Amino acid sequence: VQSVALDFDFFYFVLQWPGAYCDSRQHCCYPKTGKPAADFGIHGLWPNYKTGGWPQNCNPDSEFDESRVSDLMSNLQKEWPTLSCPSNDGVKFWTHEWEKHGTCAESELDQHDYFEAGLKLKQKANLLHVLTNAGIKPDDKFYEINDIEKTIKEAIGFAPGIECNKDSSHNSQLYQIYLCVDTSASNFINCPVMPHGRCDSRVQFPKF
Ligand code: 5GP
Ligand code: 5GP
Ligand code: 5GP
Repeated sequence: VQSVALDFDFFYFVLQWPGAYCDSRQHCCYPKTGKPAADFGIHGLWPNYKTGGWPQNCNPDSEFDESRVSDLMSNLQKEWPTLSCPSNDGVKFWTHEWEKHGTCAESELDQHDYFEAGLKLKQKANLLHVLTNAGIKPDDKFYEINDIEKTIKEAIGFAPGIECNKDSSHNSQLYQIYLCVDTSASNFINCPVMPHGRCDSRVQFPKF
């Protein structure tokens, strides 16, 4: 039984590198709308407690309703693409993110504003641009995790959390970037608690 959590302290805004998702899984599936751009995609906007835990599935009565985000649909397809198999149009992923995470922020954001906030944060962070400007590119090469962190911190103003996974040759690679966001879902903040990273000191930034 899930408890109904009415409060949280901040959000993790989580971006995923598609090259790492596809690599480590051996396979991923492109959405029905086609191969996503070689860019970070949104994974989710996750309410969190400053002690490190989080609420989830807060309101079983609040279902994802496509008609409430129809004006955002083409941007969701571009910026929040699903890579899970079998190929689908993304509604499954957005439904999961809304039901598991979004419903725990309903006191702050309705469904439309929740997804719109994710899209705006992605644009605001502009992470691929920030990294490539610093010479950190998705070219299968290895980069110092410290350089990645420092580059993002200088651009955004706050240190990111970085999560890695392993490809089939056990290379540590850049998988997800976590940025902390205030409860209005509009401003980046200092992370009250960092997610668990599991990165080696040098990580591969895989091609996609
Ligand atoms: P799912 O995404 O199927 O719910 O869960 C897959 C699990 O595999 C996640 O809980 C996550 O911890 C783990 N995982 C680690 N790295 C990756 C990755 O690159 N791709 C995927 N799909 N899962 C990963
Ligand atoms: P994984 O096993 O891939 O690390 O995590 C599986 C799922 O647990 C994620 O997709 C996410 O829904 C949830 N999760 C993992 N870590 C956190 C966290 O620090 N905060 C929140 N809110 N959810 C998390
Ligand atoms: P979480 O529970 O961690 O918020 O989200 C992970 C869930 O979303 C998993 O069940 C996974 O199968 C599904 N999912 C669908 N598309 C994607 C995707 O592109 N990336 C990740 N990480 N999970 C996805």
